[in-house]
Amino acid sequence: MASADVHMAGGPETETFAFQAEINQLLSLIINTFYSNKEIFLRELISNASDALDKIRFESLTDKSKLDAQPELFIRLVPDKASKTLSIIDSGVGMTKSDLVNNLGTIARSGTKEFMEALAAGATDVSMIGQFGVGFYSAYLVADKVVVTTKHNDDEQYVWESQAGGSFTVTLDTAGERLGRGTKITLFLKDDQLEYLEERRLKDLVKKHSEFISYPIYLWTEKTTEKEISDDEDEDDKKEGDVEELDDDGDKNKEKKKKKVKEVSHEWVQINKQKPIWLRKPEEITREEYASFYKSLTNDWEDHLAVKHFSVEGQLEFKAILFVPRRAPFDLFDTRKKLNNIKLYVRRVFIMDNCEELIPEWLSFVKGVVDSDDLPLNISRETLQQNKILKVIRKNLVKKCIEMFFEIAENKDDYAKFYDAFSKNIKLGIHEDSQNRAKLADLLRYHSTKSGDEMTSLKDYVTRMKEGQKDIYYITGESRKAVENSPFLERLKRKGYEVLFMVDAIDEYAVGQLKEYDGKKLVSATKEGLKLDEDDEEAKKRREERKKQFEDLCKVIKEILGDRVEKVVVSDRIVDSPCCLVTGEYGWTANMERIMKAQALRDSSMSAYMASKKTMEINPDNGIMEELRKRAEADRNDKSVKDLVMLLFETALLTSGFSLDDPNTFAARIHRMLKLGLNIDEEAAPEDDADMPALDEGAAEESKMEEVD
Ligand code: ADP
Ligand code: MG
Repeated sequence: MASADVHMAGGPETETFAFQAEINQLLSLIINTFYSNKEIFLRELISNASDALDKIRFESLTDKSKLDAQPELFIRLVPDKASKTLSIIDSGVGMTKSDLVNNLGTIARSGTKEFMEALAAGATDVSMIGQFGVGFYSAYLVADKVVVTTKHNDDEQYVWESQAGGSFTVTLDTAGERLGRGTKITLFLKDDQLEYLEERRLKDLVKKHSEFISYPIYLWTEKTTEKEISDDEDEDDKKEGDVEELDDDGDKNKEKKKKKVKEVSHEWVQINKQKPIWLRKPEEITREEYASFYKSLTNDWEDHLAVKHFSVEGQLEFKAILFVPRRAPFDLFDTRKKLNNIKLYVRRVFIMDNCEELIPEWLSFVKGVVDSDDLPLNISRETLQQNKILKVIRKNLVKKCIEMFFEIAENKDDYAKFYDAFSKNIKLGIHEDSQNRAKLADLLRYHSTKSGDEMTSLKDYVTRMKEGQKDIYYITGESRKAVENSPFLERLKRKGYEVLFMVDAIDEYAVGQLKEYDGKKLVSATKEGLKLDEDDEEAKKRREERKKQFEDLCKVIKEILGDRVEKVVVSDRIVDSPCCLVTGEYGWTANMERIMKAQALRDSSMSAYMASKKTMEINPDNGIMEELRKRAEADRNDKSVKDLVMLLFETALLTSGFSLDDPNTFAARIHRMLKLGLNIDEEAAPEDDADMPALDEGAAEESKMEEVD
């Protein structure tokens, strides 16, 4: 009968499934890549067990009966030398049949591809596997066959089995040992991986990688006791525990008669400490201990960059440990992925990962735990949103995070690392957190016209401000290179005013909210409203005169450019270039326009409203402008003036950070200029005329394109 059952279990009830293509690729990568740090598989499997236990414990908070099938929550490790297997058993939530099929092989995980790409690029190593959400497959680092037996409260017991190679099977388990509830993962170890049967190795590994698992981890431990029995005693009569103790002054004759017998027994030995680290006193915890806790929490292979361990007492009590990693995760701003960064505990009981209410999005890179004494144990995601206690905790966490960032800033190298990885988050914080905005501004660092290779803080900028300088100047753009030599900076540079280079897309948003620092206005070098005082009365008077002289040219240019510009004025900000295009004080900059154009799903009604209203500023001291003025004075309708103004406008679009809507017309105009320069007679080459749009025709085309925008 029994053998018939076994046959049944392995026969008609067995279904075979193909691994999803990417998972299959991942498996062959894991199996075929030479990688020596294979031990991390145990951490991954224990971490899965712990997750499964968290789930059932959480479910049981609202329904105690969920624990009935197996009241005890544990993780057990069973090395078996005879069968060369290592089993990891947990009494967690288990998996239903469909969980098994979906979670272990058929449904692609978003991180699979990223992980393989990162590996191929050398950007990560295998030990990072857990961060990519495919840690289970690390079992194949050490095993050539894996069997997963699992029992979920809502389903029968099932067995999953695979030797990789493209497929796995799932079988209803009618005959196997009953789990009650939970999962048993049995690894059939490769012949060169038998070290993972050694108790010592397993103990060390748990200590190294899984010390902070909050469930007891038991090791099925072999105990050999030497027993001494007297010769005269019949061995068959020997009973367990029937050992005679020898006292020091024992009779030697009696001793002679005894003989030693080895007895092997097994017992469960708990090999982790389990007392949560956050309950201990910070001064008694070493950096190494924090590091190993951090690693167990995050699967990171590197130590944390900074840690903040604190408790809040009084009306509200909670303890927390917060960490800043050394690097940004590969998916920091991937909105599809739920972040999983602050674990919430209530009176030592794990409640949930990824408690969004605990920390704002801009701090989503901070990892850690919070253990509250005040929240109810049966708190649900729905009630979290209105929870007042949680709001207070959140406020405290934000405050402590900011404190931690300032602590990092005390060390230049650390802060450079931090800023490189997380400056976007700080800027997002400035954009979103009005309460902490001013404080966060002190964390900003920028290259500037005076900073050289280093970056400067706003605070340091202020100390360098020139006498009479009231505002803080900045320029936004695509890159440092693109803004460094911008015509907008000419006058500012000449006056010795420092200009900050804001070349991160998010700077546009952040600075738009920040508006001022230390009582000083943040002023864009590319927008209207840049007012620079003349150095002396003499110069001021001269300038006013020049302005008057050029008034008429401004009108002529405006007529030629039509709707392309709002107005044409004499500039205060350029010294060398003939002209530039500035944008309205409250509208988008050229850089912002570029950013918005790059966003596929922007609201086009918004862009029509916000799109840069351009003002052309001309430089009266520039030779080109002077010549134009003369020509326009002589004949307002001079064709060459029209052509030159168009060319100046288009060039200014480029130097001011805009893009050309119609590069071909621009090119045609340049070519015409080239011909002029080379003394090629236009009439003599009539076929070329077809290439060259008539000025007005080109203008009509362009304004049409701008309307679409
Ligand atoms: P992750 O843990 O990041 O989700 P893994 O590859 O480690 O990725 O595990 C895949 C999934 O398999 C888990 O999300 C879980 O649903 C399931 N799983 C793995 N191990 C267990 C276990 N011991 N008990 C219950 N479910 C498990
Ligand atoms: Mg996992």
